[in-house]
Amino acid sequence: MTRRTRAPASLLYGDLTSAEVESALRGATLVWPVGSLEQHGPHLPLSVDLDIPEALARQVGAESGGFVMPVQAIAARSLPQSGGGSHWPGTLHLRGTTLIDSLSDVLASLAPLRPGKLVVINGHYENEALLFEAIDGCRPAVAFPETEIMAFSWWSMVRDGWIADHLPGFPGWHAEHAGLTETSLMLYLRPGTVRPERPEHKTPPPAGIYRHPLDATRMSTRGVLSSTTGAGAALGELLFWHIIDNILESMG
Ligand SMILES: [Zn+2]
Repeated sequence: MTRRTRAPASLLYGDLTSAEVESALRGATLVWPVGSLEQHGPHLPLSVDLDIPEALARQVGAESGGFVMPVQAIAARSLPQSGGGSHWPGTLHLRGTTLIDSLSDVLASLAPLRPGKLVVINGHYENEALLFEAIDGCRPAVAFPETEIMAFSWWSMVRDGWIADHLPGFPGWHAEHAGLTETSLMLYLRPGTVRPERPEHKTPPPAGIYRHPLDATRMSTRGVLSSTTGAGAALGELLFWHIIDNILESMG
């Protein structure tokens, strides 16, 4: 594999002045990472779901000549079958209605800047439906008549063939929480934040079933919903560039 280097710097929305921002953004690409602060087991930091979309956004911004927004760091509630839920300390959230309102307000204030493309990269499983609702609810045809919008969770850019080739025993994206892919991406992107433990959870929760009461100790192993076996920086690097290639191809 030819090694590719991550962008040393990208253009940041926040570095623009008010006098510059209208002409800079008009017709340009704007990339907005949306994440979360959420427990990710004993081995990963709370910032996983914002670190991954932020790194992807910065690379996409650099490769497309676009501007990158600051990451939306606090977002949807963590749920037991996809994030461990609120049984674990450190997870912060906005309630769904507040999150939709917050995202909608940001979108409404961005709209007059008329970017050519708005690319929203999500890194937190529970955000997705609320993010799509906020975007669709702002009536893009009216609010963003000149803007192409593409919003997605990063795992939607991972092809089925790649999963078959690299992720044996794949438990589904809901259960990849703090598992093989996030651990590997963090070992590539921010190795100094990854602790040496590699917890395993042999029985990942099924997708799409909510239960109460719930035995939190059976749903995960210390907040890990699936397997971390085989995690490594090399796998994270492969995955990172696979995602980048697919995002750039999808942007056209
Ligand atoms: Zn995560």
